[in-house]
Amino acid sequence: MELTLEYAKQLDRTDSLNRFREEFYIKPNTIYMDGNSLGLLSKRAERTLLESLNDWKEHGIDGWTKGKHPWFFLSERLGEMMAPLVGASSDEVIVTGSTTVNLHQLVATFYKPEGKKLKILADELTFPSDIYALQSQLRIHGFDPDTHLIRVKSRDGRFLDEEDIIEAMTEDIALIILPTVLYRSGQILDMKRLTAEANKRGILIGFDGCHSIGAIPHSFSEWGVDFAYWCNYKHLNGGPGSVGGLYVNKKHFGTAPGLAGWFGSNKEKQFDMEHRLTPAESAGAYQIGTPHVLSLAPLLGALEIFEEAGIENIREKSLKINRFLMDLLEQELSDMGFSIGNPEEDVRRGGHVSLEHKEAARICKALKENGIIPDFRAPNIIRLAPVALYTSYSEVWEVVQILKKIMEERQYEKFANEREVVA
Ligand SMILES: *Cc1c(COP(=O)(O)O)cnc(C)c1O
Repeated sequence: MELTLEYAKQLDRTDSLNRFREEFYIKPNTIYMDGNSLGLLSKRAERTLLESLNDWKEHGIDGWTKGKHPWFFLSERLGEMMAPLVGASSDEVIVTGSTTVNLHQLVATFYKPEGKKLKILADELTFPSDIYALQSQLRIHGFDPDTHLIRVKSRDGRFLDEEDIIEAMTEDIALIILPTVLYRSGQILDMKRLTAEANKRGILIGFDGCHSIGAIPHSFSEWGVDFAYWCNYKHLNGGPGSVGGLYVNKKHFGTAPGLAGWFGSNKEKQFDMEHRLTPAESAGAYQIGTPHVLSLAPLLGALEIFEEAGIENIREKSLKINRFLMDLLEQELSDMGFSIGNPEEDVRRGGHVSLEHKEAARICKALKENGIIPDFRAPNIIRLAPVALYTSYSEVWEVVQILKKIMEERQYEKFANEREVVA
């Protein structure tokens, strides 16, 4: 069947999530395909941020316990709202810190090299910040990251093979840190299987959920995942620098935080101001200091939308609209040097299409000049993310038509084929 604009419009008319599009600030004459890097502002997120500012205006210091969104309980309240998105109970999730800070906290807490088990297992395709954090944590323990950080190799530079990861779960491994979804290729790792294999060997396992939270459902508790951390500014639309998320499995409650601070206190005890910490009996124990209230506030509105839309519906549309994009690329651009660098099967692909081309850097610049916002990942990847909550099928159709025109007219040739400072 030929894919046409008419067909795209028909898909839009029957899209049950279509009504959420008008809740977002979408710039006229631009098509935003970068919601996997920074999600767009919604009117509800704007409202809850302004309400929090107003709480400050009205209540001053009393905003901690009074006002519309009392700040003292905000991290816990957001953890409760976020728990269904990761498949955990409310007390297993807290909204605090940032991705990298939360990783430091979790490694400081759960990496306990002992006997033969000294090493950390990660992978060679993961996000660099995670690797930097792990290397520095190993150094703090007096280990050389060159020998004690094991990185599972990719066979093709795009994907990881679960078999290779399991094979690397040897008896000298203390801790495993893996992404849920790879940030370039969008591959979903089989978290359930990897967790079962790690549990069997007595190795703790934690996941970086930056690219999956808000895009795909998770069952962290049921799978027995030990801990996880993620950012809330990508698919969750929490805004630039939005406060991150952290999950700790109930079975670990009571484990003393590696990086302690007074916001990890049992809330009843916090203002007793004792010099002996009484940690919260929940994931809240892994908070450190005063939360960044104004970077938490937009999440209240942003998460309301997820609650209403339902993560299962979001995943269903995400799969369908990403497939539509892949099919259109094949129909319209099959002989122009592109290849699809994300997995083909639904169970293995996350929320974006990873389009590879040797001129990718300057094709991205030409797309921007034409009002399309993609993102580029060196050396050759154009990431395009049709987002379930606010991207329409008609927009996807248009993106591919514009890309085709850019290629036919060689519009990209006027730009240098190198990345910008923020790519
Ligand atoms: C975006 C992203 C990060 C970013 O970490 P911050 O501490 O929020 O800057 C880390 N890991 C992955 C996999 C990411 O995609």
